Amino acid sequence: MKILDGKKISQDIKDELKILVSNRLKKGLKKPHLAAIIVGNDGASLTYVGSKVKACDYVGYDSTLIKLEESITEKFLLEKINNLNNNPHIDGFIVQLPLPRGIDEQKILLAIDPYKDVDGFHPTNFGRMSLEMESFVPATPYGIIELLDRYEIETSGKDCVVIGRSNIVGRPISILLSQKSKKGNATVTLAHSKTKNLKSITKNADIIISALGIPGFLKSDMVKKGVVIIDVGITRVPTQSSPKGYIIKGDVDYQNVLEKSSAITPVPGGVGPMTISMLLKNTFLACQRKD
Ligand code: NAD
Repeated sequence: MKILDGKKISQDIKDELKILVSNRLKKGLKKPHLAAIIVGNDGASLTYVGSKVKACDYVGYDSTLIKLEESITEKFLLEKINNLNNNPHIDGFIVQLPLPRGIDEQKILLAIDPYKDVDGFHPTNFGRMSLEMESFVPATPYGIIELLDRYEIETSGKDCVVIGRSNIVGRPISILLSQKSKKGNATVTLAHSKTKNLKSITKNADIIISALGIPGFLKSDMVKKGVVIIDVGITRVPTQSSPKGYIIKGDVDYQNVLEKSSAITPVPGGVGPMTISMLLKNTFLACQRKD
């Protein structure tokens, strides 16, 4: 059984990017510049954005963090986005989700210039990705593909079950795995909250990608021996035993499923760190495109 060490692979990718940045500087080219907008004071979102800024520092990118009050209007946020769209120094930017109530998430994502949309959430990028055209691929699915690739896990001809159909993880990874590509060619089933008898589906899967956000949901009796498990779930479970007041749990009943799997991602230290590295990779691409 192999533990798919997302923390290590993510570090490798950051080190590769660091070299690419220093090569750019030697050629007199600019550093990539990522901006992030965060609205409100959600603890998890602040942590994610903080990690993204820290990662930018590590690889040698410029970064700009724009913190906005929870009470701002949609119009104000749209103006900020417009400013970033028109700022020639910014190569790519993200708007950290979720947004406060009263702000239409779709309207906000649509306002981002697709050439700066390094999260890959704009319909133009999503459509291009689906059609196998060059695009920004959303960072989490991109990270899963990269992890499968670097660990040389075969996907071609495999039965793959994706649990969860969100626009940022489940749906895009189901599209990528079914495509005629190096880490594609799988036969993909996309399961969701209305799926009947999920166990009978997961039991036959060679690869399971779990992205639903229910800690310990995927139990040992739901999988077959030799399965590859990618656990995307990140849930903060309150506990007094941790100084932070919570621990991070994945969707998989890890200790029990571990024995049956041929490869598995831990939580934390699996898909999470990969997401950040792939965002950096997209930002590098955005910068390169502008040269
Ligand atoms: P979401 O929260 O938007 O939706 C959950 C999905 O799970 C829905 O499509 C729903 O149909 C499905 N679902 C719910 N209950 C189900 C059930 N009983 N059986 C089958 N399907 C069911 O999804 P999301 O935004 O993709 O987040 C999913 C999890 O992944 C969360 O824990 C989130 O924190 C985590 N996440 C992690 C990363 C990362 O970087 N590792 C990135 C994004 C999301």
